[in-house]
Amino acid sequence: MKIGLMGGTFDPPHIGHLLIAEQAKEQLGLDEVWFLPAKLPPHKQSTITSATKRLQLVQAAIQSNEAFFVSDIEFEREAKSYTFDTIRELKSRYPEQDFFFLLGADSLVNLDTWYRAEELYEEIRFGAVARPGNQYLIPEGARVTAVDMPLLEVSSTDIRQRVARGRSIRYLVPEPVRQLIEEWKLYAT
Ligand code: ATP
Ligand code: MG
Repeated sequence: MKIGLMGGTFDPPHIGHLLIAEQAKEQLGLDEVWFLPAKLPPHKQSTITSATKRLQLVQAAIQSNEAFFVSDIEFEREAKSYTFDTIRELKSRYPEQDFFFLLGADSLVNLDTWYRAEELYEEIRFGAVARPGNQYLIPEGARVTAVDMPLLEVSSTDIRQRVARGRSIRYLVPEPVRQLIEEWKLYAT
């Protein structure tokens, strides 16, 4: 099977993440997409929401798609979660699967700064989408297939800010996610 890995902080998951997964699934011929919430993202020290809650938010976001799954593999380790380690681990657990790592252009442009980047390029192929305000640059040595989708100027940062200002996030996140954000009073100041 071909599996797409959708890594992210998902604080919170939004329609951009789902659109990447769906379009990548179609265009790369993936059988499934596994969402991988990061425990302690090396690039982001100030994650606001607990790992457990972000896991539940992702579960809520993908519940209506039978090809989407969420993995808590990054929560198993004590320290930081590096994509390189996660992919190594997944490949050893599921040696028969063909993995693709999915990302947006902002991540793509930074890929060469990721932990053990050169080796990462050997380990896995990438599917990358454009993102407003970001150059689409493929780092040398990385095997990247372009995934086409409508440019979507949506980010978790923007959604957190909208909530903090008391503005609506309906349709920017799946409805079950919106309900959990409300119930848990996330991002409110
Ligand atoms: P934050 O604002 O907190 O950084 P985010 O919206 O960037 O959140 P992440 O969890 O950081 O979401 O991103 C996970 C992956 O999804 C990254 O590879 C990122 O590039 C991609 N991504 C998120 N939103 C979009 C979007 N609107 N268009 C294209 N790619 C996106
Ligand atoms: Mg981001």
